[in-house]
Amino acid sequence: MHSVVCLKQVPDVTEVKIDPETNTLVRVGVPSITNPYDVNALEEALRLKDKFGGKVTVITMGPQMAEEILNKAVGMGADEGILLSDRSFAGADTLATSYVLSMAIKKISEKEKVDLVFCGKQAIDGDTAQVGPGIAARLNYPLLTYINSIEDCNTENGSVKVKRKVKSGYEITETKMPAVITANRDINQVRYESLPDLIKAARYKAIVWGKNDLNLEEKRLGLSGSPTMVRDIFAPEEKHGGEKIYFDENKADETIDYLINKLVPSVIIPN
Ligand SMILES: Cc1cc2nc3c(=O)[nH]c(=O)nc-3n(C[C@H](O)[C@H](O)[C@H](O)COP(=O)(O)OP(=O)(O)OC[C@H]3O[C@@H](n4cnc5c(N)ncnc54)[C@H](O)[C@@H]3O)c2cc1C
Repeated sequence: MHSVVCLKQVPDVTEVKIDPETNTLVRVGVPSITNPYDVNALEEALRLKDKFGGKVTVITMGPQMAEEILNKAVGMGADEGILLSDRSFAGADTLATSYVLSMAIKKISEKEKVDLVFCGKQAIDGDTAQVGPGIAARLNYPLLTYINSIEDCNTENGSVKVKRKVKSGYEITETKMPAVITANRDINQVRYESLPDLIKAARYKAIVWGKNDLNLEEKRLGLSGSPTMVRDIFAPEEKHGGEKIYFDENKADETIDYLINKLVPSVIIPN
């Protein structure tokens, strides 16, 4: 069983502040962490390795400092870490990010068959939940999103059965591997690192792949490959309390008019 887990380095949002002048994130001094959903995705991949044997490869696209999260993943038990880093990747939106990640997974699978690709349900900074589906679409792998548990994984016939969260409850779905899974946080409880893995992590040097290692099309990278335009970023206004309207039977019409005006201020109520 070979799983590839996509890890994203994100700012620790519990520490993030918004600059009220510019309405942008104040990143200075904000610690970086592994996107929490991705840690659960990694845990799930490690559990499959514990059960079936095999390998877990972790990948991240980001600047050199993103290597940190690969080392942490090795400390949890991942076997190999690949950092996708190149100046031309900077400014990538979800389209360009999923292009680079999918090309890296393609390269990995040419060397060693990949059974499952794991992503988090979403990143806590960008929050789009588009990268996992983007990878699946590009690799033409079946996509299983919002996964709460892997019910069964059959290495004989190459199928995986999962429980996924849907609006009305849960759904059990089965598909062929290789597939892309995006993990919810309640999929598992993350393990504590073992001492041997921590020692391995301390000495580990991730593999680094840039544009030329992946045979990428320049125009699909970074800013030039990113059609998304950020028009505005702002912190939503804090809402304070509410207004209680008491119903007085003697003033029913008046109260209803008042309420309708509150809810739909533009409506003119005929007399
Ligand atoms: C015009 C534009 C410019 C941008 N420039 C930058 C920039 O310079 N630097 C920057 O950091 N962001 C930049 N962004 C943000 C960037 O688009 C997103 O951070 C990135 O594409 C991932 O989207 P997301 O955060 O919504 O991830 P989601 O789709 O919510 O993530 C889902 C899952 O995909 C995987 N994943 C996502 N991103 C990565 C990654 N990089 N490596 C490995 N796995 C990943 C993880 O498993 C994650 O849980 C820019 C966005 C736009 C629109």
